Amino acid sequence: MQRRFNVFSYKERYGLRLQRLTLDGGFACPNRDGTLGAGGCTFCDNAAFHPAYTHGKSIFKQIDAGIEFHQARGRKADGYLAYFQAYSNTYAPLSILKERYEEALSHPNIKGLVIGTRPDCVDSDKLEYLASLQTSGKIVEVEYGIESVYDESLQRVNRGHDFACTEKAVRDTAVRGLPVCGHIILGLPGETREMLLEEARVLNSLPLSSLKFHQLQIIKGTPMEREFTQKPENFLRMGPEEYVNLLADILERLRPDIAIGRIASSVPPAFTDSPWGLVKHDELMRRLERCLEDRETCQGQRMADCESEERFVVL
Ligand code: SF4
Repeated sequence: MQRRFNVFSYKERYGLRLQRLTLDGGFACPNRDGTLGAGGCTFCDNAAFHPAYTHGKSIFKQIDAGIEFHQARGRKADGYLAYFQAYSNTYAPLSILKERYEEALSHPNIKGLVIGTRPDCVDSDKLEYLASLQTSGKIVEVEYGIESVYDESLQRVNRGHDFACTEKAVRDTAVRGLPVCGHIILGLPGETREMLLEEARVLNSLPLSSLKFHQLQIIKGTPMEREFTQKPENFLRMGPEEYVNLLADILERLRPDIAIGRIASSVPPAFTDSPWGLVKHDELMRRLERCLEDRETCQGQRMADCESEERFVVL
């Protein structure tokens, strides 16, 4: 099918319909345990992202429960990926990482790992180990919370690392042949529309294989909520229509080979007062496709505005 943007697909990447199972590997975060800070990133409430089936279970049992959860919803899969998502999933000595990842890989339905982490929580030993798992035939993907390419934004949200750290982690990971996905938040305080378009140019310079975009969600009780209440004018607030338009502008400037894994996310309604309500991701993807169609444009179409004449390839 001809698409106007490069939609991430496991089927295309690995020839299999794979379902991710979100797991809690019991890892901590250096921005919460006092190593870098205790308050965490100002937008973060990790509890908002934990499915109920992960609570109080071993990794193996979480996988069983996760499979049951997806099967009960009629989702068919050729296999599953253990998605270590909660907190920073490389933030432990290598021996502990091996123990937890290998518990997941010992499950007969698990084909590989997706590791979500901070860019300051990897080193060459950990990356070499992940690359060795991939060489042994497992699927291994690394996802970094990039959030922003701007140091002033990273500082403002108390991220605890700068963009140079992200750049190094992404390059060190990709050079070992591991696919790298980056998470980007659109709408952090102080960031303008122009900055977000310029961000695409910076992202194009990184060896990323995929990206996930998230609209800034103001989670109740976070420092971000307090900042928003005090100075809403510092935030680029967008309704779904405006957001889709912004995404179209960004995708037009983004390298066509970067697959788009997500364009928005949503926490359970109890965690936010967002007027968006629960985001229907598929519907938003369709709207983005339509928006690009109406413009008669596609991903990478305006890269020349940034740096290259390369054009989108039909998927
Ligand atoms: S967003 Fe990630 S890095 Fe930041 S405080 Fe939360 S768990 Fe830690």
